[in-house]
Amino acid sequence: SEPILEVKNLKKYFPIRGLFRTEGYVKAVDDVSFRINRGETFGLVGESGCGKTTTGRTILRLIEPTSGQIIFQGRDVTKLKGEEMKWFRRKAQIMFQDPYSSLNPRQTVFEVIMEPVRFHGIEVDDPEEFVIRLLESVGLNEMHLYRYPHEFSGGQRQRIALARLLALRPEFIVLDEPTSALDVSVQANILNTLKDLQREFGFTYLFISHDLGVVKYMSHRMGVMYLGKLVEVGPAEEIFENPLHPYTKFLLSAIPVPDPELSRELKAKRMKVEGEPPSPINPPAGCRFHPRCPFAKAGLCDRKEPPLVEVENGHYVACWLYGKA
Ligand code: SF4
Repeated sequence: SEPILEVKNLKKYFPIRGLFRTEGYVKAVDDVSFRINRGETFGLVGESGCGKTTTGRTILRLIEPTSGQIIFQGRDVTKLKGEEMKWFRRKAQIMFQDPYSSLNPRQTVFEVIMEPVRFHGIEVDDPEEFVIRLLESVGLNEMHLYRYPHEFSGGQRQRIALARLLALRPEFIVLDEPTSALDVSVQANILNTLKDLQREFGFTYLFISHDLGVVKYMSHRMGVMYLGKLVEVGPAEEIFENPLHPYTKFLLSAIPVPDPELSRELKAKRMKVEGEPPSPINPPAGCRFHPRCPFAKAGLCDRKEPPLVEVENGHYVACWLYGKA
């Protein structure tokens, strides 16, 4: 299928400023490449600090990339200016974990939703009718039209934020931990709404989350990040069934599973990993996972960085256990 977005060698380094000079860099995203096909959900997972959120924001140029290319519908986003950038701002949207920060408390739901529509000069015949339709598509209704954000629950606010971005008819949406702040039952409802909307409008999602259960439920393909690097990419089902990278195995073995059958199966695969993730300021040489990896080979893993190679059809991994040194 056709890619809507291709990320090539993306880097985002944040300088650490000392009193007199730059003392180093946080290599938040360090040479990451992947593509997202039209109409699919691409999940991006990893522990906090792995660079997944920075990747999402850099793709949208909410943060300027240090280097690399971001090709969206054939255009390099890193080079867009003026009207073209405005076009991209409309086509590519983001939904944050905390919708409250993106909703103006003094605006009614109607105003919250119409504001970006007016900003982008989108003509609508009957604004009230338009907003009601949008509210209905996210599970709210006309009763909510002239209420204020504080009158809603967290889940409803997330729905308002969703209606607001749908108003611009985007094609690509970054969902950055969209339901992490919500109760499990509310979370499930919103995830289902997102799936329904995708089916109806053909949206492409980049779904960022530390919650593997949720990523499994949502994603067609996925990538696993560790300390600014993409260590495994492939079809989500395939990765959950047959994780290759030792770090992915470790992440999967940490998911709580309610089903006892599944849990026994997973326990067999369970893996112990020592320590906390090291800092992206001075990442370890070679494979960044080597200080924690039970399979690390001295003289290889601590010296040479493993490239991301295709092991099976569409399943990529960056680990010396699978590639030739
Ligand atoms: Fe472990 Fe070496 Fe593979 Fe890194 S390259 S994950 S250290 S075996």
